[in-house]
Amino acid sequence: MPRAYIGLGSNMGNPVLNLETALKRIDGIEGIRITATSSVYETEPVGYEEQAWFHNCVAEIDTLFSPEELLCKLQEIENELGRVRLIRWGPRTIDLDILLYDRAVINTERLIIPHPRMAERAFVMVPLAEIAPDAEFPDGRTAAQVTELINDNKKFTCIHRKL
Ligand code: ATP
Ligand code: MG
Ligand code: MG
Repeated sequence: MPRAYIGLGSNMGNPVLNLETALKRIDGIEGIRITATSSVYETEPVGYEEQAWFHNCVAEIDTLFSPEELLCKLQEIENELGRVRLIRWGPRTIDLDILLYDRAVINTERLIIPHPRMAERAFVMVPLAEIAPDAEFPDGRTAAQVTELINDNKKFTCIHRKL
């Protein structure tokens, strides 16, 4: 069964509760099973800085869905949790990004896998490497190897809270 990694982020309302609710909804979908979740990390915002810090985590899933179907399911959950797109990279109740999907390379208008900015982001790579240091990018590099190369000066702390 295909294995994928999802990056979750929230900085509105009750972020930890939003992450928790999103994980429950993801696991509740027939055709998706969560096999591991990382700790929660508190991270300084990227791109648009006049907003609250984010809470981020990463989930490992087994899924019967294609990458496109998976994106649709995740976007349904984003909408259900009240995500409104106002400012690019701005505040949101929940962001669900597909990071890796096996070793697939996808480049369509709607979907790019591996997630195009993940390799530079400590808030993505550190939780990913926590649960899956050996997860491979399509070029064969592991999450642990990519994480070592990050030169991210954003402030970032692990709040050690497994959901
Ligand atoms: P970033 O992509 O830098 O993390 P973001 O997550 O805030 O920014 P969104 O507003 O959530 O960006 O998504 C914008 C669009 O990105 C979505 O409509 C979706 O079609 C597209 N997209 C492309 N690749 C992916 C992916 N791997 N996972 C989720 N969405 C993706
Ligand atoms: Mg994102
Ligand atoms: Mg997104």
